Amino acid sequence: MIFETLEQYDYEQVVFCQDKASGLKAIIAIHDTTLGPALGGCRMWPYATEEEAIEDALRLARGMTYKNAAAGLNLGGGKTVVIGDPKKDKSEALFRALGRYVQSLNGRYITAEDVGTSVSDMDTMHEETDYVVGLSESFGSSGNPSPLTALGVYQAMKRTAKEAFGSDELKGLKIAVQGVGNVSYTLCKYLHEEGAELIVTDIFQQSIDRAVNDFGATAVEPDEIYGIEADIFAPCALGGILNDETIPQLKVKAVCGSSNNQLKDMEKHSAQLAERNIIYAPDFVVNSGGVINVADELHGYNEKRATDKVKEIYNQMDKIFEIAKRDNISTALAADRMAEERIDQMMRVRSTFSRHEHSIISRR
Ligand code: NAD
Repeated sequence: MIFETLEQYDYEQVVFCQDKASGLKAIIAIHDTTLGPALGGCRMWPYATEEEAIEDALRLARGMTYKNAAAGLNLGGGKTVVIGDPKKDKSEALFRALGRYVQSLNGRYITAEDVGTSVSDMDTMHEETDYVVGLSESFGSSGNPSPLTALGVYQAMKRTAKEAFGSDELKGLKIAVQGVGNVSYTLCKYLHEEGAELIVTDIFQQSIDRAVNDFGATAVEPDEIYGIEADIFAPCALGGILNDETIPQLKVKAVCGSSNNQLKDMEKHSAQLAERNIIYAPDFVVNSGGVINVADELHGYNEKRATDKVKEIYNQMDKIFEIAKRDNISTALAADRMAEERIDQMMRVRSTFSRHEHSIISRR
């Protein structure tokens, strides 16, 4: 049945990696490399079944194709999942064995940190492969991605405000922020500096206190954030929070935040938001600053170049609103279409014969 599954979304390759001595059991899924090598993180998780692990690898790899394409990167989509408990099953041998598998793909796939893996795991893989990013400082790393993710959310929010209120100035707007963690603290700083009014919530009192003290934010209970009378809702904590229970409570004109997979059901809930005239800024474009930042390591990291590229998220949002209007579809679908159209265009560009393909990976 595996080929039927692969055919459904046209996956290119799945690699099963096994090393008995280290206990490595991993799956590398490569969805699409039209734009360039597949980039996507390495997740370590105690999957209950092999089927669950394969399903996750495939779903996440395809997600990366869309995310990288929509971010304007010359990268395709891929992902690794390691079956195991990150608290118990990690070892040097396991990550080096995996590094050798990544190397064997000869640059078709580039790995990075994800849920359950760390910078030091990437450094260990780097002993065996050139095709890993998110390394520690000593290797010229891009560092903590959160500040640039926040900058991208801020740019997306400005463009979303323009769509909702006719101006990209956030001064005087009331913004309800769910979660004030790594990304959102920096986002709140930008918003405060521009003169926006902040209403925040978190499950940690310390995080709330910091936002109240540093930015004069008003704090509310976690379950109150959905019903706040505000201009924009910024989900920056959890996935699946735009659903049947929460959407009817919203009293905002737009949603724009850093969380992954905000819509519980993509089609149903993006339609529900549109029915209520709430503009939805697609999450995987809004939060693409993180991947843009880490991908810059492939050229030898340059902070200014990465920052400039993250600011382009404003223009990517522009295209999404344009496609949504052109095709009369939701912004969520428009983001997917923007990615698909770019892949399609580049497929045609790349059909011109060249004896030596240019590589985006600089020698390290
Ligand atoms: P984080 O853990 O630092 O921050 C999340 C915050 O949300 C924490 O302060 C947490 O206490 C709070 N929170 C958790 N449950 C909550 C609830 N029910 N109600 C209110 N607050 C709650 O994480 P982060 O790195 O800031 O990431 C935030 C989101 O953005 C995540 O969904 C993440 O996947 C996504 N994201 C992050 C990056 C990045 O660069 N860090 C990149 C892309 C996407």
